[in-house]
Amino acid sequence: MTIPAEEKARRRDDVDPGHRHLFHVPPAEGGRYAEAAYLVGNSLGLQPRAARAEIDAELSTWATLGVSGHFVGDRPWIPSYRSLTGPSASLVGALPAETVVMNSLTVNLHLLMVSFYRPAPGRDRILIEDAAFPSDSYAVRSQARHHGLDPDEVVVRLRPRPGEETLRTEDVVDYLDREGQRVALVLLGGVNYLTGELMEIPEITRAGHRAGALVGWDLAHAVGNVPLALHDWGVDFAAWCTYKYLNSGPGALAGAFVHERHLGDPAIDRFEGWWGTEEATRFEMAPVFRAPATVEAWLISNPPVLAMAPMRSALAIFAQVGMAALRARSERLTGYLEELLDRVVPSRPLTVLTPRDPARRGCQLSVRIGRGGAAALAKRLSAEYGVVVDDREPDVVRLAPVPLYSTYHDCWRAVDALARLVEEA
Ligand SMILES: *Cc1c(COP(=O)(O)O)cnc(C)c1O
Repeated sequence: MTIPAEEKARRRDDVDPGHRHLFHVPPAEGGRYAEAAYLVGNSLGLQPRAARAEIDAELSTWATLGVSGHFVGDRPWIPSYRSLTGPSASLVGALPAETVVMNSLTVNLHLLMVSFYRPAPGRDRILIEDAAFPSDSYAVRSQARHHGLDPDEVVVRLRPRPGEETLRTEDVVDYLDREGQRVALVLLGGVNYLTGELMEIPEITRAGHRAGALVGWDLAHAVGNVPLALHDWGVDFAAWCTYKYLNSGPGALAGAFVHERHLGDPAIDRFEGWWGTEEATRFEMAPVFRAPATVEAWLISNPPVLAMAPMRSALAIFAQVGMAALRARSERLTGYLEELLDRVVPSRPLTVLTPRDPARRGCQLSVRIGRGGAAALAKRLSAEYGVVVDDREPDVVRLAPVPLYSTYHDCWRAVDALARLVEEA
C-alpha cells in the first residue's frame, strides 16, 4: 500500500479550506494529533462555536423576563420558531409555507403518516428499503398495525439485486410500475444511512405518483449533505433531523415538509394541538381547531426555546456558506477519501459499498471490512489514532468527511490508520 505523503493532504487543506474555525472539534483520544479526525458528522454534527451564546441569550431572557419572554425582548419566544423556517426551507428547496421545525424525526414521520398513509382495500402497502433505518421500519410497521393491518403483509422491503449493495432506481421504478396499484405510500431515505446511497428522489417520486401512491422521504442523511428541491420535485411530505449534518445539537428539533398542494385541504386528517391552530385566534382558547393553510397546521405543542437556540447558529452557517459551495467541496473531499481508499483496498479485504458515482452519494463512504468486529476496529481507530468513525456491526464502518469542517488531512489520517489496523489483523 502506498498513500500520498501526509504533506500533500495538508497542502490540499491550504488551497481548499472549509469552515472548521466555526466549530468546536473534539480532542483526539489517541494518536499524534491534538484534534480528532471527526468523520461522524453523519451521526452527530459538531457544535458551532456560536451556539453557546445563543443558548445563554435565551437563559438570560428567561432569568430577567420570566413569562414575558414569550412576548417581549429581542426575540419573543412565541413566534421564534419561525426564524428557523426560512433557513430550513432553503436547505430542502421548499416554500416557507411548506416547512416547519418541530418535534423529532420519528415523531414527525408518525404525524405525517397519520395524514398521508391512508390505506384502502386493495391499496394498503408501504414501500420502504430493506436497509431502512430501524426507527423508520418500526414506524411504518406500527402504522400498519394501527390500521388493523399485518405489517408482514403490507410493508414491502426493497432489496438490492443479489450481489449488489445498493438499490437501482430502475428496480424501484419497475416495482412501482408493476405493483404500484397496491401501494398506498412510498417512504424511503433520501440518502441511505448504511450505504450512503443518494436515491434519485425526483424519478422515484414521479413513479410513485404514476402508480397513484403518495411519496414521502426521510431526509435524515440528505439534508445539509446534498442539494434538495422538494417543492419542484413534487414530493408529498418529508421529515429530517437536524443533529446530523445540520449540527444543531444532540436530539435537536426536526423538520417537516408538506407540499403546497396538500395545504389547506380539509380532507386531510391530522393529529392536532393548540400550536397548530390559526395564529390570530390561538389564545382565544376556543374548543375547535382552525387550520391555517400552511404546514404549521401540523404543529402541536409550543416549541422548546432552548433547543431552538443552537439550531439558529447552525442554520446561519449554511445560509452564509450556501449548499452549492458545500456540495462542491463535498465532492472534492469525498473524492479524495475515495482515492486514498482505492490505493489501500487492493491489498486488503476492504470494499466500498457506497456508489462510485458522485451524483449518487453524499459525503459518506461506507466500507465493509471483510470480517466481523467493526465496533472493535472503530474503538481502536479512536484510541490509537484519534480517528472517529461510526461502526455498524458486524462489518461496516462509515466515514463521513463533512464539507463544513472536515479536512483532507482528516481523510488521510483515517485511511492511514485503517490501512495499518486492517493490515495487522
Ligand atoms: C438518524 C435517523 C433517525 C433518528 O430518528 P430520531 O427520531 O431523530 O431519533 C431516523 N431515521 C433515519 C433514516 C435516521 O438516519
